[in-house]
Amino acid sequence: MESLSPEEQVFAEAAEEVAETFEEKAFTWRGDMPWENMQTLADADLLCPSIDERYGGQGMSDLAAVLLVDAVGRVCPDTGWFTYTQSTVGPRAIDLFGSEAVKENYLPDVTAGEGHVAIAMSEPDAGSDVASMNTTVEERDGELVCNGEKMWVGGVPFSDAAVTWVKFPEGLGSIVLPMDDPGIEVEQEYHNMAGYSQTHFQITDVPVPESHVLTRGRDAFKQQLISLNWERLGSSICATAWATAGLEIALEYAQNREQFDQPIADFQGMEWKLAEMYRQVETAAATVYNAAGSAQGHENPPGRLRTSVAKLHCSETAERVVSEAIQTVGARAYQQGNPLEYLYRLTRGRRIAAGTDEVMKNTIARALKKEGVPAVSDR
Ligand SMILES: Cc1cc2nc3c(=O)[nH]c(=O)nc-3n(C[C@H](O)[C@H](O)[C@H](O)COP(=O)(O)OP(=O)(O)OC[C@H]3O[C@@H](n4cnc5c(N)ncnc54)[C@H](O)[C@@H]3O)c2cc1C
Repeated sequence: MESLSPEEQVFAEAAEEVAETFEEKAFTWRGDMPWENMQTLADADLLCPSIDERYGGQGMSDLAAVLLVDAVGRVCPDTGWFTYTQSTVGPRAIDLFGSEAVKENYLPDVTAGEGHVAIAMSEPDAGSDVASMNTTVEERDGELVCNGEKMWVGGVPFSDAAVTWVKFPEGLGSIVLPMDDPGIEVEQEYHNMAGYSQTHFQITDVPVPESHVLTRGRDAFKQQLISLNWERLGSSICATAWATAGLEIALEYAQNREQFDQPIADFQGMEWKLAEMYRQVETAAATVYNAAGSAQGHENPPGRLRTSVAKLHCSETAERVVSEAIQTVGARAYQQGNPLEYLYRLTRGRRIAAGTDEVMKNTIARALKKEGVPAVSDR
């Protein structure tokens, strides 16, 4: 890619090389944390590239995180998922907003491929309308305590902590919640369509040391929405990587499967299908790389307009492309256990998680009404 810095180019090639070693067990994890792959990435200095070097990251651009998810997600979908969440979601929020104490407490394990930090935003009555949440942090006897409940939280069974969105008396904010606190009680553990666990837990009188407050005060919610843009780019590239995996499976199959005495890939109807799938994967990737572009951490976060376009386009594209890959392979792909069947279940979730399609359209429209259509010089 022309716009990569020499450092990012080297990083992308190294990530691709390591990702190849994940191929053999690629479709065996199915919702389980691929710890051995995370540790292999950590040993190669590739995991969590945008996290500060002092905590075991590489201190690179956020674009490097996008490159990592792209490279590993198209070989091993679950490793793509977990590199996305660990590079651009909970641990990234701690890196951006955390105190020295929480960074030292949680980040080294994550960057070593041995720990996991979840993100807890949703509640039974607060989904898309996350600001209507009921989980509070209030002062009692001179100490902060958290009470409430969170739902649909991924990775809880193996998480050390969860970056948790809460309501302070003065407004919305976020804290780091240690998951081993006795005040946290699992109400129900669900398993989603792709087999991943999603947990509903109660929070009762969990003490919150000042060091565990991530964002609070006037700019807190704005900061969290900005960090959500990184999550959305991570989600977008993960979905695109899964679509790419689907296309690669379909392409190989179509070139080897013969019907009517010729490879099905040589029928024009099939050529057009493959071309269309590639067009969609390529344009999806372009929206992510365009949004990630020169963005970097606090100083220059990705804009909400392009991030929302990427999230919407990549989520829709991934479902469509994987569905077309299933069409290309036919009955074999429709069987339980087939990699395409798994990719289809995975991609479906992207149109709901991290901001639904509809909410992304709302955000795009709001940004357009406020800021107008970006100028040529803004491309
Ligand atoms: C795979 C997966 C992983 C997830 N992981 C996590 C996690 O780790 N942590 C976490 O906190 N949450 C997680 N979630 C939950 C996710 O954040 C919510 O599902 C999402 O915010 C939507 O909330 P909801 O499902 O309650 O739907 P609702 O908000 O109830 O929406 C239902 C429908 O109404 C539409 N709708 C709502 N408001 C509007 C509007 N203003 N205009 C138009 N349409 C609207 C929605 O688009 C949707 O189609 C995950 C979800 C999934 C699917």
